[in-house]
Amino acid sequence: MKILVLNAGSSSHKACLFDLSRLAESNQTPNSIWRAALDWTHAEGMVELTATNQEGGKIKAALPITDRAEGIAAMLETLVQGQTQVLRALSEIDVVGHRVVHGGREYVDSVRVNDEVKDAIRRLIPLAPVHNPANLHGLETMERILGHIPQVAVFDTAFHARMAEAASTYPGPYEWLEKGIRRYGFHGISHQYVAQRAAVMMGRDIASLRILTCHLGNGCSLAAVKDGISIDTTMGFTPLDGLMMGSRSGSVDPGILIYLMRQEGYGVDALDTLLNKASGLKGISGISNDMRLVVEAMEAGHKQATLAIDMFIHRLRQEMGAMMASLGGLDAIVFTAGIGENSPLVWQRACHPFEFLGVKLREDELGRAKDDQDIAAADSAVRVLVIHTQEEWAIAQACLSILQPVA
Ligand code: AMP
Repeated sequence: MKILVLNAGSSSHKACLFDLSRLAESNQTPNSIWRAALDWTHAEGMVELTATNQEGGKIKAALPITDRAEGIAAMLETLVQGQTQVLRALSEIDVVGHRVVHGGREYVDSVRVNDEVKDAIRRLIPLAPVHNPANLHGLETMERILGHIPQVAVFDTAFHARMAEAASTYPGPYEWLEKGIRRYGFHGISHQYVAQRAAVMMGRDIASLRILTCHLGNGCSLAAVKDGISIDTTMGFTPLDGLMMGSRSGSVDPGILIYLMRQEGYGVDALDTLLNKASGLKGISGISNDMRLVVEAMEAGHKQATLAIDMFIHRLRQEMGAMMASLGGLDAIVFTAGIGENSPLVWQRACHPFEFLGVKLREDELGRAKDDQDIAAADSAVRVLVIHTQEEWAIAQACLSILQPVA
């Protein structure tokens, strides 16, 4: 079976192809045989197309295209011709899996796309005004190019959709709930994948594990995964809630927003930009949203960079504690995404305060490894795992289980 995975965003499109007939028997996740991306921010009036295949073929070109559908068609052409060809014809693709950011309360699982699903994604646009339109456009464009082959929507909110009301309701007026103003949570595909992978690495059944998953990338969120279900998470109604992030503030006193509007005349768009683009590591350090550059500056003695890292860690620890309280115990902590997979400094500083619970890291020099790794000491009461998140593979697996359900 050949599964195409599409992650359609507003400023980029990323796609990859899995060929399940080429998979060796192993519990390691497979590599895709082709991947490609469109970068719409490259230059005015242009899109940058990059593609690679597993034989080492490469394409990189700036194309005079502004129409998103035309760009997607050009990207798919690299599957069937030129240096990166891996298929004879696009008709060899069996199914397309889409990352869809918002599935609201309705979708607690991935679903085969039909008109009803498309209507739901459209209806949820007010909750994800940047992402859901791009996701819907991706679905409809694939339909036009590939005809009526099966398509599957894999929602970033779905894994959190079973949270109890006490965890998902904001303490505003009760009417908020009726208006859909509640905690949805995001990064669900990643949290679910790494929690399942953690159970495999531990040789345990996920149905009896309490796992704290830490997705720390440009966007950061934690999830409390109990018996395989997300029972709490730090992102909320939007991906702005919770932890301090690359350029997003995370949770702040909502009174600050009222103050800025009243005293400094801030409007909606200015607040949106301030909280999403000019806050977090970037806002505090004044250097970058890239953790590597902020750490470099801290090591060179930069005061604001040091404060930014200290705050990032402080808030991470606070929220880790909150998730542990929701879990009522802890079997494993998982670190994933750009920062989570690569930063021994974050592993060490984040875990340190939980030594009193028996969390103990290995004493040898910790660093990035080729494979997923367990960085806890042999006598640690809690496993601490660093797992490479594989959202695209998780989407491909969702397609497989919808098309070939296990009896
Ligand atoms: P992602 O959104 O998962 O691509 O993650 C992006 C974030 O990961 C950026 O803030 C990068 O600075 C961070 N990152 C990538 N590599 C490293 C590293 N070696 N150490 C610390 N942070 C890293």
